[in-house]
Amino acid sequence: MGDVFISLGSNIGDRKKNILEAIHLLDNPPEIIIEKKSSLYSTDPIGYVGQDWFLNSVVEIMTRLSPKELLSRCQAIEEQMGRVRTMPWGPRIIDLDILLYGGEIIEDDELIIPHPHLHKRGFVLVPLAEIAPDILHPRLNKTAVELLRQIKDGHKVDVYREC
Ligand code: AMP
Repeated sequence: MGDVFISLGSNIGDRKKNILEAIHLLDNPPEIIIEKKSSLYSTDPIGYVGQDWFLNSVVEIMTRLSPKELLSRCQAIEEQMGRVRTMPWGPRIIDLDILLYGGEIIEDDELIIPHPHLHKRGFVLVPLAEIAPDILHPRLNKTAVELLRQIKDGHKVDVYREC
C-alpha cells in the first residue's frame, strides 16, 4: 500500500535524535519502506502547556502491513524507545500516529483513519503539505494544502533550521 503517512513528534531529551531513531526503526523493508521524509518542525505544545516545545515530522511510507499491523508496529516502537504514558497531551519521548492509509476510511475503538486531528493541526499539515501537497483527505475531499489554508487556529509552526 502506498500513500501511507505517519506523523512523528517528540518533546523530551534529544528530540531530533528521537525522531531520527523512530524513522530508522520504522524503516524495515520489505514490510515498511520509507519513501519521503519532511523537514523537522519546531512547534509549541497544545493541550498541557507547561512542557517543552515539540519537534514534529511526517514520513510517507510504502507498506505491506495492514492498518492494524502498522498501528502495532508504531506502538512497539514507542514502547521500545521508552515512552511512558502519563497524560493524553503530556510530554513524550516519541509519538507516532497514522495519518492516512491510502484512501481508506477506518473507524473503530482502536484505530481512526484519517487521523481525527489531521485536518486541524498545523504541526501535522505543514510537514504533510511539504512532502505531499496534493494528497487528498478521503473524508473531507480536500488536499493537504487546502486543509492547511483552512486552519486558522493561530497555532505557530516554525521550521526547525538546524537540520
Ligand atoms: P496517542 O496517545 O496519541 O499515542 O494515542 C494512542 C491511542 O490512539 C491508541 O490507543 C490508538 O489505538 C489510538 N489511535 C486511534 N487512531 C489512531 C491513529 N490513526 N494512529 C495512532 N493511534 C491511533
